[in-house]
Amino acid sequence: MNIELQVCGLVMLIIFLVLIERDRKLNVKNRLLFMAAFGVCIVCLVFDIASIVVIRMAVYEGFSPTVTRAVCKLYIMTLVTQGYCGFLYSCLDIAVQFKNDLIRRFALILYVIGELLIVTLPIEYYMDGRIVYSYGPATLCTYGLALFYIIATIFLSIKHRKKISHRRLVALFTWQGLWLVAAVIQFIFKEILLVGFAAALGMVVLYSQLENPNEHIDRVTGLFTQNALSLYMQDKFNYRKSFAFYTAKIKYLIPSVDLDIKKNAVSRSARAFLKLGKEPVFRLGDDMFCVIYESSEEAYLKLMEIKSQADGVTDIPVEAKFILCKDSMMFSGADEIFNFIHCYEDSSESLINCDKILIERMRHRSEIYNLIENALRDDRIEVYYQPIYDVKEGRFTTAEALVRIRNEAGKLIPPGSFIPVAEENGQIIPLGMRVFKKVCEFLATGELQKLGIKNIETNVSAVQFDHENPADFVKRHIETYNIDPANINLEITETADNGLKHLLLLNMEKLIGMGVSFSLDDFGTGRSNLDYFVSMPAKNIKFDTTFTQGYFTNDKLRLVMKGMVNMVHDMDLKIVSEGVETREQYDAMVGLGIDYIQGYYFSKPIPGPDLLEFLKMHQSS
Ligand code: C2E
Ligand code: CA
Ligand code: CA
Repeated sequence: MNIELQVCGLVMLIIFLVLIERDRKLNVKNRLLFMAAFGVCIVCLVFDIASIVVIRMAVYEGFSPTVTRAVCKLYIMTLVTQGYCGFLYSCLDIAVQFKNDLIRRFALILYVIGELLIVTLPIEYYMDGRIVYSYGPATLCTYGLALFYIIATIFLSIKHRKKISHRRLVALFTWQGLWLVAAVIQFIFKEILLVGFAAALGMVVLYSQLENPNEHIDRVTGLFTQNALSLYMQDKFNYRKSFAFYTAKIKYLIPSVDLDIKKNAVSRSARAFLKLGKEPVFRLGDDMFCVIYESSEEAYLKLMEIKSQADGVTDIPVEAKFILCKDSMMFSGADEIFNFIHCYEDSSESLINCDKILIERMRHRSEIYNLIENALRDDRIEVYYQPIYDVKEGRFTTAEALVRIRNEAGKLIPPGSFIPVAEENGQIIPLGMRVFKKVCEFLATGELQKLGIKNIETNVSAVQFDHENPADFVKRHIETYNIDPANINLEITETADNGLKHLLLLNMEKLIGMGVSFSLDDFGTGRSNLDYFVSMPAKNIKFDTTFTQGYFTNDKLRLVMKGMVNMVHDMDLKIVSEGVETREQYDAMVGLGIDYIQGYYFSKPIPGPDLLEFLKMHQSS
């Protein structure tokens, strides 16, 4: 009997099914559809073999022709079902993006009509040795439908190829190609019944290329990977299914952690998560986990359980940081969830409960992130300068460089709205470099020096010292632009921790060695403390605006300032008062013995060319 190829295909699929059923798998729509197509393929092969067996029995042993026709019809009906499932599976990625699901509805209607036609139309069968087939209107209808599904799948894949990943496209074409080639061979050489086997082979190709869950499994922990999480969440968003989740991040309490300690912490956590229940657990990066739940109550309860377990760990130096989200619908999609996790994973709080306010804050931060990125790319970073008056010399001897961003609409954005975000997300590094480069370009023209400017003060955030080698960066620029290092003054504000402080001092010493000077910014605010004041080799101390203005409203502050001025002068440092807006304030600061005055009283921060004009007007008089 001519059933060897079909039996081979069937055995292959059954072995494969036993193997893949043992894998841990993600229940996403793609996979469910694939398993449906896989099941239909097995049923189809069974009916394929059965139909050949009954045709032989009918032709040679007088078996009932009615039953034989029925079995033949069942076979071609599952064949059409297989074509339909394959079509759905193939255009899942595309169809999701069609709001009204037109294609899927059309395919479904065609499928139902086709099956009804097969049931009602007549069918005949033929057998002569190894040549065996069915024919008649029902079979013709099957050919038509199968051809339609194959052509439609190929057509849609080509039309929407940009929306489908390259890998998926190749796998789909291989699969459909196998079908087509087998059908042509079988049509020409009637005794080679290849279609069933080709369909089975196609399933194996699809599985290995697109559905292999091992690609989604982290080798170390056996948990699902971050890619799998992205796929899983995208699937939920596509079908508008709300979910709850929490993430847990391992934080090591000692600065440099042994690899063994890390491995221990990760594998213990993974085991603890797996013990919690059946919900899928994902590993994000090295030391974070995420578990997804259908109900928010369950997510909360399980989080509390895992939190109390984490709190009980005393033998390894770790603590856990959690983020809980009770309703995924607060987010616009999987990308935004990842963005949120990224934003808050290192928060100082041990449990972040994600709510609308936090999400809004994240959106604001990513807006600022884009603002800075685009401004850097399009060179819309502008540096304004505010002249600083030297009381002793009676003229302007320095100016402070203050960054602004010109947004795409041409509006000027003040630094207060982007510097704090840039300091948090690291963009302060490229931003600070750009500002410094512009300051160097301005100094390199020599115009400022001709007008009596001894140096330009550039703001530097302490985090900038945590990156590459700031001293080298400054040195490179000084050399490139051929600038006298004495023209460079860097303003440091501080809130750095001890590790960073060490780096800061190291770099400062190198730069001072080159001839660069420093100012301690924002003195008198929470951002700078006495410890810094004592240990930093700064040349100037800058009194903050609140300090200057508080002088008139707060008697105690006035006394503190008087004491400070004497102390700072005793240490051989100079004082700059910021925020001097009126003549009265100016007189008071001069009376107090302040060395330099900066503020709207003289000028707001202005563009470079305006500063030159300003200096031309005021320095000569
Ligand atoms: P800052 O370093 O304390 O700069 C002084 C701020 O006071 C400037 O605000 C300036 O425009 C403002 N100011 C000057 N005179 C007066 C006055 O008379 N009255 C009042 N009310 N304000 C006055 P700006 O330009 O908005 O800068 C804000 C902060 O942004 C700066 O504070 C500095 O911390 C930061 N910043 C600016 N440019 C840079 C930069 O290139 N790098 C870094 N890391 N931070 C920068
Ligand atoms: Ca400053
Ligand atoms: Ca300041």
